[in-house]
Amino acid sequence: MKFNVVTIFPEMFDALIDFGITNQAVLKQQLDIQCWNPRDFALDRHRSIDDRPYGGGPGMLMKPEPLARCLDEVKRVAAGPVVYLSPQGKRLDQSGVRSFSKLPEMTLLCGRYEGIDERLIQTRVDEEVSIGDYILAGGELGAMVIIEAVVRLIPGVLGNDLSAEQDSFSGQLLDCPHYTRPEVFESLNVPSVLLSGYHERIRRWRLDASIARTKNRRPEFLVDSNLDNEQISLLKSLELGTNVECEDE
Ligand code: SAM
Repeated sequence: MKFNVVTIFPEMFDALIDFGITNQAVLKQQLDIQCWNPRDFALDRHRSIDDRPYGGGPGMLMKPEPLARCLDEVKRVAAGPVVYLSPQGKRLDQSGVRSFSKLPEMTLLCGRYEGIDERLIQTRVDEEVSIGDYILAGGELGAMVIIEAVVRLIPGVLGNDLSAEQDSFSGQLLDCPHYTRPEVFESLNVPSVLLSGYHERIRRWRLDASIARTKNRRPEFLVDSNLDNEQISLLKSLELGTNVECEDE
C-alpha cells in the first residue's frame, strides 16, 4: 500500500520507515511512504506556508495556495482519497482502519498551527479523520497512527496473520489476557489451563476471558452485537457467575 503524506515535517516519518513492522513492510515493498512538503510548492523566497487569520485571533493558519499546488501534484501522480487529519473529523476506529487497508493508495494531509484555510479543505479534501477528542500540535502523529494501524492489516505484514484477527476490536470483543515465561512472576501464576496442552479448553478459556474483559471494560460493545451461540452462552454463564472467567476481571 502507498501513503502520500503532505507534511512540513517529513523527517518525522523516519520513525515509521526505520523502525518496527512498518520498517519490515517497507523493506518487503508492502508499504511505501512518500512525503510531500508544501514548502516546496511555496513561490516566495521565504517558502512561506502560513499567514495570519482574517478577522484576527491567535496563531497562524496554513495558506491555501502552497497546499493546493502540492495536492494537485500529488493527485496528478497518485490515486485514492485525500484524508485531512483533523480533530473535527470522524473519529478513527478499527472499522475505519479496515476500510483504509483495502485501498491501494491514499493521501494524508497534516495540518499545523491553528489549522488550514477552509477553502483548501472544501476544494481538495475527501474526508476528515480525527484520532481522538484532544488537540495535537499537528496531523503528523495522527497520520502515523493511521499508517501503522493499516499496515498491520495488510496480509503478510505480521509474522502470523491470525494475530490481527485475534486483536481487540477485530471482532466485537476485546482481546484476552496473554502470558509468556516465566510461569511464576512476582508470585503471580500463569493460569493453569494455558499450561495444560488441551487446545479446546484453552480456546474456551480465552473466549470466556475475552467476553469477561469486554463486559467489564467496554460493555457497550456487547449491546446489539452479533455474538454467536457459543459466545451468548458464555456471556450468560458470566452473568450467572458460573463461568471460568479470567482471574483479573
Ligand atoms: N484549531 C483547530 C481546531 O480546533 O479544530 C486545531 C488545530 S491543531 C492545533 C493543528 C493540526 O493538528 C490540525 O490541523 C490537525 O491536522 C492536527 N490535529 C490536532 N488534533 C488532532 C486530532 N485529534 N486528530 C487528528 N489531527 C489532529
